[in-house]
Amino acid sequence: MNSEIIKNFGKIVPEENILVDEPMSRHTTFRTGGPASCFIRIGSVEQLQQMLAYLNKLEQEYYIVGNGSNLLVSDKGYNGVILSMTGAYNQIECRGNIITAGAGAVNSQVAAVARDNSLTGFEFAAGIPGTIGGALVMNAGAYGGEMKQVVKTVDILNPEGEIMTLDNETMEFGYRTSAVKNTRHIIIQTTLELQKGNQEEIKATMEDLAARRRDKQPLEYGSAGSTFKRPEGHFAGKLIQDAGLRGESIGDAQVSDKHCGFIINRGNASASEVYELIKRVQARVYENSGINLETEVIMLGEF
Ligand SMILES: Cc1cc2nc3c(=O)[nH]c(=O)nc-3n(C[C@H](O)[C@H](O)[C@H](O)COP(=O)(O)OP(=O)(O)OC[C@H]3O[C@@H](n4cnc5c(N)ncnc54)[C@H](O)[C@@H]3O)c2cc1C
Repeated sequence: MNSEIIKNFGKIVPEENILVDEPMSRHTTFRTGGPASCFIRIGSVEQLQQMLAYLNKLEQEYYIVGNGSNLLVSDKGYNGVILSMTGAYNQIECRGNIITAGAGAVNSQVAAVARDNSLTGFEFAAGIPGTIGGALVMNAGAYGGEMKQVVKTVDILNPEGEIMTLDNETMEFGYRTSAVKNTRHIIIQTTLELQKGNQEEIKATMEDLAARRRDKQPLEYGSAGSTFKRPEGHFAGKLIQDAGLRGESIGDAQVSDKHCGFIINRGNASASEVYELIKRVQARVYENSGINLETEVIMLGEF
């Protein structure tokens, strides 16, 4: 990316927030992926608006990343600008039974604020290792809960740089999807409506869910959680196991022994190895059961 452009980015955000040729393996929980031409930490709505206006003027491609916990970035990297929401976007405020959280706030912190204020309804998300922005886009869910159940409003910045407030219905939450997925809209913040509850019970639920995750999920390895969506009437992990793929590997990419629904990075897997393994799993599961596994993980870049 040319140095004049990078200099101009530095007029919008502090220079230390601009990383050139930044390996995406540092910003994804799969711990794979080549360099983004430029990785920029955005700290306020004003910075975001100015940056978007500049990127649009340049006709420069950009992509928003939360915690990178649902992303597989190509080994060739991303030929464009990655915008990461930090700073002002991490704020979390509680008033009565309403929590306002910035897009960059992480779910575990939001869940902790809910617990500290004796609010119930967000326990399910405490162990989902992403940001509020990512959780809203994906309608993240676990153990019977999903974002759809708790979201009151979502503030977004549209491609024209205007702020709009969407209500729960307009977000069109579905299974691991929302109206914002695959659009140019950027989530800025949300309000969550929770219920008054018993703090000890909330704490106990969060601890129980965390223990269930530790017990069932290969949390010691890089991954993006469940690699595949749950096909209607089935469990992806069971279909993969039945196809004889438990422990199947390509290089350091492996179908987890502990949870067949997770593809893990045992150390030095490349994104191509993960990708090849995804394809192999899909083909074998289809041969074995006639069921097409769709990926839940989002691919970014060329594969
Ligand atoms: C160990 C493990 C366990 C997991 N368990 C679960 C689970 O139980 N349930 C579940 O649903 N998921 C789970 N996941 C997957 C993942 O954590 C969720 O999908 C999460 O919501 C992604 O959030 P993120 O901030 O990491 O988003 P990213 O992966 O960074 O991004 C995901 C998508 O959201 C977009 N995006 C992110 N922020 C914004 C924004 N502010 N504005 C617009 N678009 C944005 C990105 O462009 C991308 O398209 C798990 C992952 C791991 C690694």
